[in-house]
Amino acid sequence: MTGERFWPHDEQLLRSVMDWSWRRIAGGQDPQARARPPAELDAALGDTVVPDGIGGHEALRLFTQVMVPATRAQDNPMNLAYVPAAPTEAALVFDLAVSAAEMFAGTWEAGAGAIAAENQALTWLASLAGWPASAGGCFVSGATMGNLSALVAARERARRRLDGATARWRFAATGDAHSSVRAAATVMDCEVLDVPGDERGRMTGAALAEALDAVGPDPLADGVFAVVVSSGTTNAGVVDDLAGVAEVCLDHGLWLHVDGAYGAAAMVAPSVAPLFAGMEHADSFVVDPHKWLFAPYDCCALVYREPEHGAAAHSQFANYLEGLDRTAWNPADFAVHLTRRARGLPFWFSLATHGTDRYREAVETVLATTRAVADEIRSRPHLKLVMEPDLSVVLFERVGWDLADYEAWSVHHARAGTVLCVPTRWEGRPVLRFCFINPTTDSDVVASILDGLAGEPPAKPRPG
Ligand SMILES: *Cc1c(COP(=O)(O)O)cnc(C)c1O
Repeated sequence: MTGERFWPHDEQLLRSVMDWSWRRIAGGQDPQARARPPAELDAALGDTVVPDGIGGHEALRLFTQVMVPATRAQDNPMNLAYVPAAPTEAALVFDLAVSAAEMFAGTWEAGAGAIAAENQALTWLASLAGWPASAGGCFVSGATMGNLSALVAARERARRRLDGATARWRFAATGDAHSSVRAAATVMDCEVLDVPGDERGRMTGAALAEALDAVGPDPLADGVFAVVVSSGTTNAGVVDDLAGVAEVCLDHGLWLHVDGAYGAAAMVAPSVAPLFAGMEHADSFVVDPHKWLFAPYDCCALVYREPEHGAAAHSQFANYLEGLDRTAWNPADFAVHLTRRARGLPFWFSLATHGTDRYREAVETVLATTRAVADEIRSRPHLKLVMEPDLSVVLFERVGWDLADYEAWSVHHARAGTVLCVPTRWEGRPVLRFCFINPTTDSDVVASILDGLAGEPPAKPRPG
């Protein structure tokens, strides 16, 4: 390096940030951490963006004392709300290394080493789906971006097949598909062909065939460019009838996209592998390693069985990009992005560290916890299991409680830091929902929470 430093070097600040990170990774997160109102947080932060700066030490103090306590404890083992997180220590610490290395992983020429390792992780995921080694894709920020990118690729393939003939573009999905699937339709300015779910909300081959028949003899010619299935749904963890749907898609030449953001991690687990039969016929799938594959945010694997369809839709061309080697594996070609960090590397590092066998055991452990909790629910007369879990989401009811009771109970436990569990709805009625993804969650501790549901609901919380 030549000349003087422009930005002052502060050894102590580097050490303080590393020390905090170290303690956080090794020590876990305060389960009582939770949001505060904006005005309160603004007041607690004071003015931080000012001409002279506030200094790194003060900024770090605000981070540790104000900001972090006002975030949810995503990886606490008793966080069972929404879809929580459970990154391994290896994955978390390696995220620091990925940041430090400042790699541009959009193009092979800039990020070859990182991309080669990311691709090994993608190839493993593709192999779980029964796909050949020629399958591939890239890591994007989340399944919202992954679903959108896959659907754009599907439409591009249809557009080329129809030779530019204009059509009313739409893709098929059920009402239980994730909200991001409908968001993709809005972004793409296309429509959703609704396929009614069965009694568990699943898309079946028969229901899809019927919905397509109503469109006409050649749904593709009428603008139906894809079918989206869930494996499994976020709300109930239910896996659509992949094999039945895949057969109908093959018959009609339709692109099959599997939204496995939460659930496709379970492809690795022999006890539920049969639910994923049919994956081998899909054209694209997504899975979020930041959900049930023990990676930190933000990390979604987007995989195409034939990656050239992704590139046909997403490659960017510009004068300043003319020198790029277009025959190389450029992750920028496979999604709506150009610059990207090597966000698959923390996942890769964790996989490489622990091995795929350990990953299988971790997912099976979570499934065993889920089954044990379902049994505990069944054995308590004050509770009712809504349905047998396919994967690791459990929906259940407290006999006699209404939504206000559930909410009061949920807030009481969130504030105490004992469990994070928020009500949802099934067939219109409020129910409680656990989502397990953390192998250290203890079913005995969950059982004691279930015991607590026998009594009266807690008093309605005061706001704040
Ligand atoms: C979480 C989830 C998504 C959205 O994923 P993000 O990573 O939050 O963008 C999409 N589909 C399903 C089934 C999900 O569970």
